[in-house]
Amino acid sequence: MLKPKTRQSETKLLQFGQKKNQTLHKPKLPSLKILAHANSLTDLEGFQIEPESLPSEKCCGTQLVRRTVDLKDLFLTKSGSVKDMNSIGMPFGPKTSAFIVPAKNFDIADVEMDVLENYNVWSDIGRGTYAVVKFATRKTSGQKVAIKIYEKQKIQDPMRQKSIKREIKILKQLKHPNIVELIEEISAEKNLYLVMEYVQGFSLQAHIMKQPLKRLEEPEAAEIFSQFMNGLAYCHRINATHRDIKLENVLLDRTQQVKIIDFGFSTISSVKNKKSYVYCGTPNYMAPEIIKKIDYSGPPVDIWAAGILLFTIITGSFPFSSTKESKVFKKILKKDFVIPNYVSYNCKQLIMLMLTNNPEQRITAEQVLEHSWVKYRGKMPGKALPHRGDSIDVPVEEDNY
Ligand code: ADP
Ligand code: MG
Repeated sequence: MLKPKTRQSETKLLQFGQKKNQTLHKPKLPSLKILAHANSLTDLEGFQIEPESLPSEKCCGTQLVRRTVDLKDLFLTKSGSVKDMNSIGMPFGPKTSAFIVPAKNFDIADVEMDVLENYNVWSDIGRGTYAVVKFATRKTSGQKVAIKIYEKQKIQDPMRQKSIKREIKILKQLKHPNIVELIEEISAEKNLYLVMEYVQGFSLQAHIMKQPLKRLEEPEAAEIFSQFMNGLAYCHRINATHRDIKLENVLLDRTQQVKIIDFGFSTISSVKNKKSYVYCGTPNYMAPEIIKKIDYSGPPVDIWAAGILLFTIITGSFPFSSTKESKVFKKILKKDFVIPNYVSYNCKQLIMLMLTNNPEQRITAEQVLEHSWVKYRGKMPGKALPHRGDSIDVPVEEDNY
């Protein structure tokens, strides 16, 4: 149910009053193509053989295959060979070694290699409407980085340019273990490059999809959610708002450390609670005040989206979903959703506090961190847990909101 079947998983950025067809769509993440170098024909079972398309020097004397795999399941060694962390020898067979083909051999001629002289640029790890994210390594130290590349020709819209400037400005200010770090920004003739810390892992969305029930048990969910909220509370403390909180923009590294990424729609202000009127976000995660197109302050909008994220990791589905965007919005405005019975009392209460319609009554990030479900990582010490079906203590909302 979490798989993006419709455009509702795509981020939108619209000025109020702007036409719908000016919405920004984010295409699906492509997989990484890597070239495998096989030692025997039996290793090649099930692979498509394309010897003529491969660089010769690394591959001479052997059969060669092109295979699409997920980079995030692989581990890149210093020599440039690839190991699969989950199963040795996979996915190429036990006697096979594989090489990711560097940029020069791959079709990314659009990257200005001269300005990126300090890096070996490998292949794509993510792609959006305006940006491509590539995996790279620093030549001197081998440090792994992710380079978000904006093609200048595609970002001529002044509103988009402003957003990217803000993304850089905000990333430069953010220094937190749960937020991706910007290493450097390189502006060249054709492209703008944001060199970031590489998060070797996968998105929260991918993590959930790997689970047998497509959802997380509460203690694991609370651990991840607490790290995520630490990052978000830090943003709100310095008056920064992310504005595109969703499963795809939260990465988990190999040690289960959370990193919030993609500040492409974020804002920062010098004053607390500055109102904004930009209609942005991803439909399933949009707060009622955005749908109603009224001025809103940023942090409560992030809290709403974080409440959707919490519901989703705990239940494996969105609280408000439909194939039609208009129906999603109707459900959000009516707060038409049900929390399944297997969710603990404490967690239910937190979700209700986060999905409070009135932004002024919605719980804040600091209060979420103080909530017992987060504090005790999904377990309540010492006290008997309330029984399922007990009433939940949530603030009464004004009817007219
Ligand atoms: P967009 O604005 O196009 O959504 P993102 O910044 O979200 O761009 O990056 C797109 C994808 O690239 C992400 O969903 C993620 O899979 C990958 N990605 C981005 N930054 C990193 C990073 N620092 N480390 C690893 N993967 C990343
Ligand atoms: Mg993104």
